Amino acid sequence: MSSRESVPAMKKRAARVSAALAKLYPKARISLDFATPWQCLAATILSAQCTDERVNQVTPALFQEFPDARATAGADPERIQKLIVTTGFFRQKTKSLIASARMIVERHGGEVPSTMEELVKLTGVGRKTANVILGHVYGKPGFVVDTHVRRLTGRLGFTRSTEPAEIETHLQALLPPSDWTPFSMRLILLGRQVCYARQPRCDDCVVAKDCPKIGVVRKSASAK
Ligand code: SF4
Repeated sequence: MSSRESVPAMKKRAARVSAALAKLYPKARISLDFATPWQCLAATILSAQCTDERVNQVTPALFQEFPDARATAGADPERIQKLIVTTGFFRQKTKSLIASARMIVERHGGEVPSTMEELVKLTGVGRKTANVILGHVYGKPGFVVDTHVRRLTGRLGFTRSTEPAEIETHLQALLPPSDWTPFSMRLILLGRQVCYARQPRCDDCVVAKDCPKIGVVRKSASAK
């Protein structure tokens, strides 16, 4: 676990961390509710700066009125704003929903595309959202990098980068493709529940023995 850790040693450590997290979080899926690729995309757009629970409260009414990209493409923005107002940033999210729906209708016949290249061309869709779609809808391994994953992959010493695309590449080199989506989902859960940004609960952490930062973050925070 030193800074000179070899790649094979790091791969073994990543496998141990992955196994420990799989035991702790057997179900590694996003907690957003959706029934179709479009609904997964829409819910993921709404989840920016908002809890999944809150998104799940608004999407039943949204999807009842606007169930797919075609319906959303022709929607009255004010009506959508009203339906999603509690998720925050509702004006921007409404713009993203309608613009991406229009692109999907015009360029993809109403079907959400299934490649990273096409997904990131949609308004409001970055690599994180694209990887959620690829991994959860199309069964294509994708490494989802959000704020928790960025923090935890750094603390665990699996990458020194803070750039999402680089983090994806570095982690993909350490783990088999079948682990990419579930591992990133599990890191998000660990980040939400244990490895907090300021006061990580290292004493309760199942990957502590494989973490180079065990106890370090808390000590440096309390020393300030
Ligand atoms: S040991 Fe501490 S710093 Fe390392 S992953 Fe666990 S909670 Fe985070």
